Amino acid sequence: MSTTLKLSEEDRSKLIKAAFEAREGSYSPYSKFRVGAALLSPNGEIVKGANIENASYGATICAERTAMVKAASEGIRKVVALAVVTDVPDAVSPCGICRQFLREFCSLKMPVLMIPANYDAQHPEGVDGKGVIKEVTFEYLLPLSFGPEDLDRPRIPAE
Ligand SMILES: [Zn+2]
Repeated sequence: MSTTLKLSEEDRSKLIKAAFEAREGSYSPYSKFRVGAALLSPNGEIVKGANIENASYGATICAERTAMVKAASEGIRKVVALAVVTDVPDAVSPCGICRQFLREFCSLKMPVLMIPANYDAQHPEGVDGKGVIKEVTFEYLLPLSFGPEDLDRPRIPAE
């Protein structure tokens, strides 16, 4: 485990573009907060997802989980990069539920790209310090996490 995953420039560009495209699919009449997420598979496939809200607010599904559920149900059980974009001109990070959900399917070293809405591919370094992508590892977002391998730990027998 723990191999550092490095995105190629090509995959990185594709992923960023896909996150913006994914945002178009948002159904967010209540929050008016659109989110687009894109996941990269080890084979270079990209799966997009948007947030899908519900009149019963608790039934809402975030963009990241939409993308992961789409991927997993199509047989992609491992993802190697995530990109997320909203309409906010800041890097917005995945919520706690999505972090745990994704933990099942990714390496702790997976890169997570949080894209400000004003990101401009022509100026990836930003303009006047704005529009810069924030990139962190998954582990940075979810330290000391609980994952599938924890279930394989030996137990102390019950009395
Ligand atoms: Zn979420």
